[in-house]
Amino acid sequence: MPIYEYRCQQCQGVSSFFVRSISAAFEATCDACGSGDMERRMSTFALGKTTAAVHEANPTGSSSRDYYRDPRNIGRHVEETFARHGVAMPDTVRQSIDSARSGEAPKGIDL
Ligand SMILES: [Zn+2]
Repeated sequence: MPIYEYRCQQCQGVSSFFVRSISAAFEATCDACGSGDMERRMSTFALGKTTAAVHEANPTGSSSRDYYRDPRNIGRHVEETFARHGVAMPDTVRQSIDSARSGEAPKGIDL
């Protein structure tokens, strides 16, 4: 699941996108100003890091910009809340987190 970052040529804002397939038609638009004048950048975090390494580099709830841009941080708060209360996480929750991390939209949400 490639993750692309685009820099807006209008406002210089950076937006990240999951792209299901490299060959799929894809038009990036700026999160900030809606411009379609975007230039692709290589994503810094998507390259060669394991989930564990990403988690280690970004403590849960970290306010670092990369924390929320990295899909591998999705659901960590949920995981830790279940663990803290000693409750087993239901399979459905586990599956939604795993599929969100792999870039799939949760059921019922159209990207
Ligand atoms: Zn923009």
